[in-house]
Amino acid sequence: MSGKTSTQRAASRCSHATGYRYPDCLNWAKEGKISPFQPVPDASSPPQKSFEAFVVHVIAEALRDKQIDSAILGIKKVEPRPDGPILYVHPEMANTIVAELLPVFDSDYDGVRGVPGLRLGHQGNGRLTLVDASSRSTVFLQHEDKNWRPNLPSGKPGINQLWLDQNKLIHSERHTLHYWHSDWGTGSRDTRNLLLSRVLRRPKIIDRAGSSHGWANTYTHSYFDLVIESCCGDDPRDISSNLIESGLLSGIEGVDEEDFIPTPTSVNMGVGSANICVRRLSIGPCRRTPEMIKRTSEAIREGHKTS
Ligand SMILES: [Zn+2]
Repeated sequence: MSGKTSTQRAASRCSHATGYRYPDCLNWAKEGKISPFQPVPDASSPPQKSFEAFVVHVIAEALRDKQIDSAILGIKKVEPRPDGPILYVHPEMANTIVAELLPVFDSDYDGVRGVPGLRLGHQGNGRLTLVDASSRSTVFLQHEDKNWRPNLPSGKPGINQLWLDQNKLIHSERHTLHYWHSDWGTGSRDTRNLLLSRVLRRPKIIDRAGSSHGWANTYTHSYFDLVIESCCGDDPRDISSNLIESGLLSGIEGVDEEDFIPTPTSVNMGVGSANICVRRLSIGPCRRTPEMIKRTSEAIREGHKTS
């Protein structure tokens, strides 16, 4: 460990995982807020974890293979405040992210899209506050342009914009949240919330999945897990060991690292159905030519412009 003190080790792990400034991480370490085993502050309460986890669930499903410049989940770095992380969003994906997070009832889909209960709070200096109407948990989106104001979606036939109702949860939102909060006796809900909120707080590690072409594919199975998949990004074993070193699994009961069985193409981290899976389809460079990579990236950028 190269003669570093444990305070310095905690700070460098924090900065490496979050992209947050090293001197600030060092202050947190000196104040005892982080340690080498838990170098990134967790969300402060169960509702805060749940809200952050739902944000990850929605962004992962919405962006899928529409991520650029290695900003997986559209996030470049984070200030991991326990009571509300500040997510520095990729400027070209920012409007898409806001539009996808805002809850709507979609008649064709016959259900709620977005994060149920999410409402817009204060906006200013390029920062948008997202608030959970029931718990007042918060997540902040920070744009590099201080004059940024998101393009808010306008009305469409068949779409009921639930987020416009500032004061209460709509029945359909409660219904969706009931399923989100259900545990079916598996004990996996709290672990899912913790794992997903921890991933949100470690963008500089998951970004490695986009190291080859700048993009990756993200998706979930129902409400349980998160899959981060690349064609030929960094080795999943390296990404997962970075995640584990950064405290992804700290304090989670029932985690048995012997069960992970990491392979050059896939690593699963978690307990039962609450999982973070990092996958890579080909070992070594894939067959995409520089022209194909350029064309794909440009098409993704164009798609975000219309959000
Ligand atoms: Zn590739």
